[in-house]
Amino acid sequence: MDSKDTDNSFRVCLSCGYQRGFHVHFKAVSEGKARLGLICPNCGQSYDIGWLTADVAGLEPKKEDVYGEMDH
Ligand SMILES: [Zn+2]
Repeated sequence: MDSKDTDNSFRVCLSCGYQRGFHVHFKAVSEGKARLGLICPNCGQSYDIGWLTADVAGLEPKKEDVYGEMDH
């Protein structure tokens, strides 16, 4: 499934070359919206990819289901 270097995806860190994708972080912006950013788990470089969430009340995450391993 991998080994395609020409796919149209953004998963390689431009700073350190880490190739396995990014962590996500949220940054509050005005009008009850938050911006999603990416952080390289290897070097910590963050990226703004222009994602804005729908309306959110605040950055107060609610815990939801914990997913275990798929064994049934
Ligand atoms: Zn990096």
